[in-house]
Amino acid sequence: MPEQIENGVVVSLAYTLTVDGEEMGSATAEEPLEYLHGGENIVPGLEAALQGKRIGDRVSVTVPAEDGYGDYDEEDIDEFDVDEIPGAENLEPGMMVEVEDDEGYIYEGSVVEITDGLVVVDFNHPLSGKTLHFEVEILGMRQADDEELEHGHPHSLADYFYDDEEESDK
Ligand code: ZN
Repeated sequence: MPEQIENGVVVSLAYTLTVDGEEMGSATAEEPLEYLHGGENIVPGLEAALQGKRIGDRVSVTVPAEDGYGDYDEEDIDEFDVDEIPGAENLEPGMMVEVEDDEGYIYEGSVVEITDGLVVVDFNHPLSGKTLHFEVEILGMRQADDEELEHGHPHSLADYFYDDEEESDK
């Protein structure tokens, strides 16, 4: 078993994420988050702070936006005709919406406003531009297996979290 967190180690942890004093996410010891260290499964600032940590360590990390979900990009906002978006008549500002591009890729964004037959969608991550504060407890770690290393994510607990649909093991 690995003694400290380094690339190629699957880490399980409990955490609380706070943004502007408000709790925005968490995982508990009963239902921990698992991630592959070095796999960019978690934001870069948190991954860097966990390097070298051991089981039982508690870590308090403040991550600036550029090492978190990125700076807010005012260009990353687009307009769509309402008839391009299925169910547009039920949308309201603040709701999440999926938009498909010409190549069939699906992007998720939040509705800014709906005016004159146009839906304005903001594709920035909801936490872009925000300073993230994590309280983390390291619960466990193990060496990733070859398949996990190849995929770049752990397989044991996290099937619901990592999208394996386009991979050969499903
Ligand atoms: Zn996989």
